[in-house]
Amino acid sequence: MTGPPKLLGRRAFPDAGRDAGMEPMGLNVIMMGAPGAGKGTQAGRFARERGLLKISTGDILREAIRAGNPIALEAKARMDRGELVDDPTIIAMVKERLMQPDAQQGFVLDGFPRTVGQAEALDVIMRERNNGPLIVVDVEVPPQELVRRLAMRRICVKCGNNALPSAARCAGCGGELEQRADDNQDVVLERLNVYQRTTKPVLEFYRERPTFRVVNGAQSLERVAHDLDAMIDDAAGVKAESL
Ligand code: AMP
Repeated sequence: MTGPPKLLGRRAFPDAGRDAGMEPMGLNVIMMGAPGAGKGTQAGRFARERGLLKISTGDILREAIRAGNPIALEAKARMDRGELVDDPTIIAMVKERLMQPDAQQGFVLDGFPRTVGQAEALDVIMRERNNGPLIVVDVEVPPQELVRRLAMRRICVKCGNNALPSAARCAGCGGELEQRADDNQDVVLERLNVYQRTTKPVLEFYRERPTFRVVNGAQSLERVAHDLDAMIDDAAGVKAESL
């Protein structure tokens, strides 16, 4: 092992060396949903509870920017405008991350794939890994609710976690809270447009698969968590022959 790839800072490897956990091999989950749907929160919770690795492309990019990584700094202008970072950069980043030992028990992807090109590349990676199917969950929330949530959203400057709207400091590490640069209203509208144009087709790419599920994200956190867990467990039981 030659250590972390160039774009991935130390925080991209929080669980490196961790014990394998209780899950059977290869619980591979993609958490889909528009910005503000709550997919990051649910992905983090699910990954923690099941001892899986969470891979958030947005978090990796923001961490790499904080660390002054040149590739990430180039991507920053696009992120600040609410546009997507180019496919080759993102695909290489995810591929390198999925090759690390701590990803071999399975993973929860948050924010990837966002284009059909990324989804096709992930299929190729999955075939090479040969380690269980992809379970795809779409967290659905109506657009007006997304705008409302994004306007209120605050993240921790130190650990990058989302905070509750009423919180004064990060519940996890006590760090200061700030609004994400791309959560201001103009950029939010652009991100929602990009989602409609570029990421919605990814749902169509997956929709016919027996391991595709939709969860109603306009419910309490607990209710979404409950439905999501049941759907993922159900999808994980789909017989290999039907895939
Ligand atoms: P997120 O935290 O997932 O909302 O991502 C924040 C920003 O990072 C996005 O608006 C994009 O500019 C960039 N980004 C994150 N993931 C991807 C991806 N899979 N493809 C392209 N750009 C991405």
